[in-house]
Amino acid sequence: MIKYFYFLFFAFISCTPNAQQFPKEIYLAYDNYKEPSFKVKRFKHSDVVQLIEKHKTIPDFIITEAGKSFEDRSIYQVKFGKGPVKLLLWSQMHGNEATATMALFDIFNFLKASGDNFDSFRKELAEKATINFIPMLNPDGAEKWQRRTAQEIDMNRDALRLVCPESRLLKNLQQTLKPDFGYNLHDQDHRISAGVSKNPATISFLASAYDHELSMNGVRKRSVQLISKMNKDLQQFIPGQIARYPDDHEPRAFGDNIQKWGTSLILIESGGYKNDPEKMYIRKLNFVSILSSFHHIIHKTYTKETHSEYEKIPENKNFLHDLIIRNVALTANNTTYKADIAISRNELTSDDFLTYTYKSVISDIGDLSTYYGFEEMDAKGAAITLQNDTIFTPKVGMPASFVLKDLGGKKTVVNNGFKE
Ligand SMILES: [Zn+2]
Repeated sequence: MIKYFYFLFFAFISCTPNAQQFPKEIYLAYDNYKEPSFKVKRFKHSDVVQLIEKHKTIPDFIITEAGKSFEDRSIYQVKFGKGPVKLLLWSQMHGNEATATMALFDIFNFLKASGDNFDSFRKELAEKATINFIPMLNPDGAEKWQRRTAQEIDMNRDALRLVCPESRLLKNLQQTLKPDFGYNLHDQDHRISAGVSKNPATISFLASAYDHELSMNGVRKRSVQLISKMNKDLQQFIPGQIARYPDDHEPRAFGDNIQKWGTSLILIESGGYKNDPEKMYIRKLNFVSILSSFHHIIHKTYTKETHSEYEKIPENKNFLHDLIIRNVALTANNTTYKADIAISRNELTSDDFLTYTYKSVISDIGDLSTYYGFEEMDAKGAAITLQNDTIFTPKVGMPASFVLKDLGGKKTVVNNGFKE
């Protein structure tokens, strides 16, 4: 009998997620839903087409072609659920920002699954919400791993003129579906910090502003409240690594306009995480965060959040470098002085746009005591030389390949921004 009660108790806690906080179980079970065909962050439209074809046979989804890109690639719309709350999510309007596209396919795998502990959540979601997903809104840009569309237009500055077919498609979806919530899914530089800290802004949120005064109406307030909830849930997994994207109003941007057109807008930016250059962990955080928002929307648990909770999230700042080498002895005109050196490891895309190498440069020189590095080393007064032992004066923008030679003659080689 006691055993039976235990069984009932555990069945209850596993099937009934705590309405206030999103269940950690989904985070722990993520690997069951991770789309295996995405192994790196660079992939092409043909990879998306293949996956879409597979999902067309799944009865949980209605999949249609929402339109075509400028270069005639299909842009797909994946619909789930039949409920009154309407959601619209779009990823990769910037072609080289693909983290959320991977996460959307992970979410599709989650939504079509059954027999795990989340059947009641899925059922409720399908009854209470209608969710429309647009994975890879800018397939032409993705094909060349570039931000802009094939017309060399930044789609996120095209919400007024609508020169791009991709822009017209997005505006049309917003105007016809009239979603309650919209999700604008992007990537930001991995070196952005969460406030003045050593922590990267692994995820940044924004309730986009609809005017220059940063006014607050009911539509934007809902974005603020939902983000407060998403932040609290995500802090369980990446404490201190969540930030707020700058809220300056950009009248040509989609996020700002969609907020103005009456859809509560959630901007999610995938930033950096130590030792995750392919953004596989950040993709998981997108998965968790988006599902957490669905949970709070259908349970209306966001409605009591306050603006001050949102404002407690630190702002995006620039206090991070890839590598900082402290206390290097530099020489110029026979004068020796100590300085710190910062290095940026920038990605250089291959000709087929599918891989990259690093092109690392010296990005700053001087007192960097108030800055942080994903990696740091103390040169302890070692001199900077070329490979052939010649002393040189480094300059900002130079390739980050040199040798550090300490007073005892011991050498440390830095090759293309990496310590050997
Ligand atoms: Zn972007």
